[in-house]
Amino acid sequence: MKTIGIIGGMSWESTQTYYAQINRGINRALGGLHSARLLLYSVDFAEIEALQHKGEWQATADILIQAARTLEMAGADFLLIATNTMHKVAADVGAHVTIPLLHIADATAAVLQQAQVRRIGLLGTAFTMEQAFYRERLEAQGIEVLIPNADERADVHRIIYQQPCRGEIRDDSRQRYLSIIYNLVAAGAEGVILGCTEIGLLISAEHTSVPLYDTTLIHVEAAVNQALRD
Ligand code: GLU
Repeated sequence: MKTIGIIGGMSWESTQTYYAQINRGINRALGGLHSARLLLYSVDFAEIEALQHKGEWQATADILIQAARTLEMAGADFLLIATNTMHKVAADVGAHVTIPLLHIADATAAVLQQAQVRRIGLLGTAFTMEQAFYRERLEAQGIEVLIPNADERADVHRIIYQQPCRGEIRDDSRQRYLSIIYNLVAAGAEGVILGCTEIGLLISAEHTSVPLYDTTLIHVEAAVNQALRD
């Protein structure tokens, strides 16, 4: 089994899901008392969030590069960045280590292709929904990406940082997300990507019949498969 290196803490609420689900996935595959070989470098999210909102992406990259190098030196065989948004600097991070980085948008695109989805809605932070770095990975695979309107995007973004990233799960926010999901479906989306690693804490398949693609779970499954590959 390979050792998984996770750059986490963005936020730690979703990193808990990565830790639990990776261990469950390894245990499901190997049985008994098996669990994941895993290294976690958890950053201080307050620093990252402040830099994001000031547009100081190189400074965020520098923090993640240091984390990635530390994980490589400690023996990680490959890396995960446990947030969609910070994949904005994934290429830079990946260029500073010799081990592979398992990209969350590529893992998601592969699942969508497998499901033959051609047009998908995307929920995430404003950075993820509005900038090219994430959508272009999907579009490169021939998948059309629909995003919510400006008011809806502002709510989706605000709720992520103010609530699930702080461990607060509210029913009114879930209802707001559901109405945005239904608007994306009405606009032609065949399903919706939960393109932020905390959204799965708020919404899951039990809340709607719209097909949901939870990037945390997709990333976890890709990591488990990679860890078990010879
Ligand atoms: N975890 C979130 C994501 O997947 C947002 C937090 C962050 O900005 O990294 O995008």
